[in-house]
Amino acid sequence: MLNYTVDADGIATLEWDYPGKSQNILNEASLTTFVEACRMALADSSVRGLLVCSAKKDFIAGGDLAELAGVSDAAAFHAAIGDWHKFLRSLELGGKPVAAALNGSTLGGGMELALAFHYRVAADNPKARFGFPEVTLGLLPGAGGTQRLPRLIGMQAAAPLLMEGRRITAAEALTIGMIHAVVKVGDERTAAHTWLLAAIASGEKPLQPWDRKGFRIPGGGPNTPHGMQMLMAANAMLREKTFDNYPAPKHILSCIYEGLATDFDTGMAIEARYFTNLAVSPVTKNMIRSLFFGMQDANKLASRPTGVATQKYAKVGMLGAGMMGAGIAMSTAAAGMDVVLLDTTREAAEKGKAYAAKQWGKQVAKGRLTQEAMDALLARIHPTADYADLKGCELVIEAVFEQREIKAAVTQQAEAVIAADAIFASNTSTLPITGLAAASARPANFIGLHFFSPAEKMPLVEIIVGKATSDATLARAMDFVRAIGKTPIVVNDSRGFYTSRVFGTYVSEGMALLEEGVPPALIDKAGLVAGMPVGPLALADEISIELVHKIGQQTRADLGGAYVERAADRVAAKMVVELGRLGRKSGAGFYDYPADGTKHLWPGLARHFVQKVGAGGTAPISLEAIIERLILVQSVETARCLEEKVLRAAIDADVGAILGWGYPAFRGGPVGWLHTLGLPAAVAALDRLAGQHGPRFAAPQLLRDMAARGERFYP
Ligand code: NAD
Repeated sequence: MLNYTVDADGIATLEWDYPGKSQNILNEASLTTFVEACRMALADSSVRGLLVCSAKKDFIAGGDLAELAGVSDAAAFHAAIGDWHKFLRSLELGGKPVAAALNGSTLGGGMELALAFHYRVAADNPKARFGFPEVTLGLLPGAGGTQRLPRLIGMQAAAPLLMEGRRITAAEALTIGMIHAVVKVGDERTAAHTWLLAAIASGEKPLQPWDRKGFRIPGGGPNTPHGMQMLMAANAMLREKTFDNYPAPKHILSCIYEGLATDFDTGMAIEARYFTNLAVSPVTKNMIRSLFFGMQDANKLASRPTGVATQKYAKVGMLGAGMMGAGIAMSTAAAGMDVVLLDTTREAAEKGKAYAAKQWGKQVAKGRLTQEAMDALLARIHPTADYADLKGCELVIEAVFEQREIKAAVTQQAEAVIAADAIFASNTSTLPITGLAAASARPANFIGLHFFSPAEKMPLVEIIVGKATSDATLARAMDFVRAIGKTPIVVNDSRGFYTSRVFGTYVSEGMALLEEGVPPALIDKAGLVAGMPVGPLALADEISIELVHKIGQQTRADLGGAYVERAADRVAAKMVVELGRLGRKSGAGFYDYPADGTKHLWPGLARHFVQKVGAGGTAPISLEAIIERLILVQSVETARCLEEKVLRAAIDADVGAILGWGYPAFRGGPVGWLHTLGLPAAVAALDRLAGQHGPRFAAPQLLRDMAARGERFYP
């Protein structure tokens, strides 16, 4: 855990070496060991200074999230934090200099620990990052970070680091004063040692800036005119961005404001309270579960079928060089694979490659990619119209037009060339995989790989398993998704699969609200306040109202008598057929898109969708009621996907929603939100909404049974 030695100069070296892990992490066990070693060093009269370092490639990765996720007793947690704070103070004021040799990344609690030392020297390690990522998981730097950092570098520089969780390089950390020096890799311990000897030789008591007489906060405290102005602006910006949905950045700002207006120790006490509040908050639990553990398991391919050797990919075929094909080709080439990019003509295929050149060209212009690297990437993309070029591809993905006959034809043409064990994948967004596999001579090797647009950027791939898809094909397809650095979720075949099906309910509910006479501005604002990245009507414009209309018509044709018309069908038909407003691509949808680029709601909506007015001229429905509908309509559809076994695991739903359509992480995900409400309360809310708005809100039996039995989706 910790290697402790004392050298001839009286310097005690405390080397972190967490057993059985590649990283040092802070938890009860490791902290207890560290505290004991420090106490021993402070008490030992032969020890004159302490050098803290790491035996791993990084210094300390941060706190143990499994331990934090399990916190439920606020009082006990608060007491433990208080003890930890006291210990750090005893180290700062203990009379012996303490220095950190930061050989690699120093994050979260690790950076906070280092801030409680008198000196920090970092290796010039290009991979090392420094910062406070706590906020990204709904936490705050609760080991004094919110108090020490702004007292060290000023509120203005500290606030974005603490509130946004940005990770910076050693050079940046040095520039802003978060560390004292950067030295050649391998020299950091010597540098720390040299500093310790000099500090001892000076004969002065080592003190932190805030413990020195006459200390002033760099740039001024919260009650100076500059401080007040900065904090007011930060507060306003935060509210504008988060609608107060995320307590962590707000609490961090409160820690800075309240904590820096008082003495250091009171500031620490303030931080401990806000930290405890977050540690037991359902928002934090949701974020840790979905963003950390859920994502980690998905990326580790935890649900990959076992017993199948890992597939390596060298050559991949891409059918269709349109928007999706070009994007997928980019991701594939970026992962070091050769891509055969095939379209109906060589010119069409070249267009796809030209798109890649344009996107990468932007990176080159920004200095994020070198020209040579870009040339190497482009050299891996081989545009063609000749199926013979697909020979040797381990995987072929089609992203041609969304038409069954065309997809069937390209499947057969490709299969005629590729090896018998190669995988054929469809990027269809709506057509069931089992049906498309009918065109395949080897349906066991046929699978859905549903990418999101823009495919070169979006991190999620929804893998769709058809009736005949084999476990081996699934396992090998998952290997591909990981190889290109994306996160997979696995779903079973069904109309709209999981993501399109649930995401579509958000858009449809917005359109239903419009038909009911709710002002469109209120509908879209409610979407944003709910935490969604875009309001439902604006989103309908983006994906195109015409597409909503077409999918509705297709579903009606496929289901026949079983089809139940929805408000969204009527609204989409009216917009498209009657009013010719197809969405953003036609320059006219729910919004107008003037040439100067500032879109605004189309005033004509008020004529075609008569807006109701409530008592006293208010809206006919409250903001909270709209938000409830926009959020629960997604949760109830997700529960149906679980009941119908479209989804294989609840956590896939949550990870997929956050990565796929920007579902608000503070709610955990559509399942995470049901869990947050508690299943009995969720069922009661759905019963009420179903009574008011119809069966689309009807709670599936699965939810009722789980609620009745006191079961939960997550611990
Ligand atoms: P697109 O129209 O931009 O591109 C389709 C490309 O396929 C065109 O370049 C076209 O020339 C080519 N093509 C047509 N017939 C072909 C054939 N017989 N052989 C070879 N190439 C042929 O469409 P897109 O937006 O890239 O969508 C492609 C597929 O991806 C569709 O199935 C769509 O449903 C799906 N998808 C789209 C999105 C999205 O947001 N656009 C998201 C997920 C999935």
